[in-house]
Amino acid sequence: MNDALRLDGIQKGYHLGKPNEIRVLTGVDLHVAPGEVCALVAPSGAGKSTLLHIAGLLDTPDAGRVTVAGDDLTGQGDRARTRARRQRIGFVYQFHHLLPEFTATENIVLPQLANGESPEAARQRAEDLLNRVGLSHRLTHRPAEMSGGEQQRVAFCRALANGPALLLADEPTGNLDPGTSDTVFDALMGLVRETGMGALIATHNLDLAARMDRTVRLEAGRLV
Ligand code: ADP
Ligand code: MG
Repeated sequence: MNDALRLDGIQKGYHLGKPNEIRVLTGVDLHVAPGEVCALVAPSGAGKSTLLHIAGLLDTPDAGRVTVAGDDLTGQGDRARTRARRQRIGFVYQFHHLLPEFTATENIVLPQLANGESPEAARQRAEDLLNRVGLSHRLTHRPAEMSGGEQQRVAFCRALANGPALLLADEPTGNLDPGTSDTVFDALMGLVRETGMGALIATHNLDLAARMDRTVRLEAGRLV
């Protein structure tokens, strides 16, 4: 079976003119297997978000290859990358980024409609996902009517809406208090374990990292 994610020789810098040249990633190699949950740990500013954005096809590396579920997407055009993002990759940010005028269910239905799913099947799947994270009583609530932990659980469901092979999460519990963070993390792990997707989750919480299958550390632009 193909790895959920392969990064080979990823380099990335921000070229702001000679004195401000920043080399963030200097040669990142990583394989994440299906069903494997990998913690990405590094201090702030080390390049975790940069790495996740490249893996999630939201940014392009200066060098190296990105392969998602067996598809080498390096150098592919915008359409192929957009399709791969929609069908194969779920992305969760520190802030939920839900659409404020839509309910929890609708926020999970919309990406499925964009992917060609029927409205009825999409609604069924949205409700099923919300049930699995303990939110069956919040189906018709809008984001502003939910707590931070509930909003973030909805964001997880949205990321999983189209059954991706790879989940990328950028400090997904970073905005939550420690108790809520634990509950929300449990919900995320439950979903990931059930579906068998591969996951790469950035955190600087070492307790959370210890509950994942493996930890990789970003040091001087490489993984150790
Ligand atoms: P982390 O997520 O680990 O906190 P980031 O990936 O956000 O780290 O940032 C890594 C480094 O790259 C930092 O030094 C940051 O200032 C720099 N950086 C990030 N984005 C940009 C950008 N768009 N332009 C210039 N420098 C950036
Ligand atoms: Mg970051």
